[in-house]
Amino acid sequence: MDDMQLIVDFYKDADRLGPGSSEETGKALKLTGLNLNKDLNIADIGCGCGAQTLDLAKLTKGKIVAVDLFPEFLDKVKEHAGEEGVAERINTLQCSMESLPFEKNSLDLIWSEGAIYNMGFQKGLKAWHPFLKEGGYIAVSEITWLKEERPDELETFWTGAYSEMYTTEVKEEQLRQSGYELVASFTVSPESWMKNYYSPMINRMPRFLEDHHHTAEAEELVLEENREIDLFRKYKDYYGYVFYIGRKV
Ligand code: SAH
Repeated sequence: MDDMQLIVDFYKDADRLGPGSSEETGKALKLTGLNLNKDLNIADIGCGCGAQTLDLAKLTKGKIVAVDLFPEFLDKVKEHAGEEGVAERINTLQCSMESLPFEKNSLDLIWSEGAIYNMGFQKGLKAWHPFLKEGGYIAVSEITWLKEERPDELETFWTGAYSEMYTTEVKEEQLRQSGYELVASFTVSPESWMKNYYSPMINRMPRFLEDHHHTAEAEELVLEENREIDLFRKYKDYYGYVFYIGRKV
């Protein structure tokens, strides 16, 4: 089993593949000021198993294209959409976020929680801009430094994991430089990491290791995740996910 497949296996039974909550999805949506009674065209990019896709379906009357690279996750989105009775407004699309097939000026709203880092924040913001209608909105959550000074141990870990670790001010400026006006930003709560993301992950670990017969690769993956969780427990005031809401200008 290659590394990617191992990761898919680790996450495919999770509700959330990143920090977040229904409340914060709702808050970000409200901040756009969009008329939710309209038939909005929405894309949820890097949707994972679709926690926020379902929230968007319930909170709007729009049509949502849920995009992810991995069919295992998209199968979960379809399954959950069926269970929640919103399947007719959610279409799944297996595709890279780097080569999206949307038409120019066709979307009212681009959503992406904890996923844009896969192509890089500014690169993603610029690449997706043409798909939005004039005045359309983007709402993305992105890992961000919350303090100017960070302990070495933390700085080394996260700059090693992601080359675009910056503060909120830098991210907001990048958003402006990518053709959006900043509508709002807010920090996702630490509970949305621990309760919704890390705790369920910790609960999945024993079963995952068993299913993979404790191979070196599986043990390594769990070790890395545990290291990330330990750092979060220790240093959660220094970084967080920030929701950035922008409007295409
Ligand atoms: N938004 C979801 C998932 C976040 S995890 C949630 O909050 O639960 C990031 C997601 O991006 C994963 O589902 C992963 O499969 C997807 N992803 C990674 N690289 C991608 C790419 N190049 N194109 C599309 N999706 C990608």
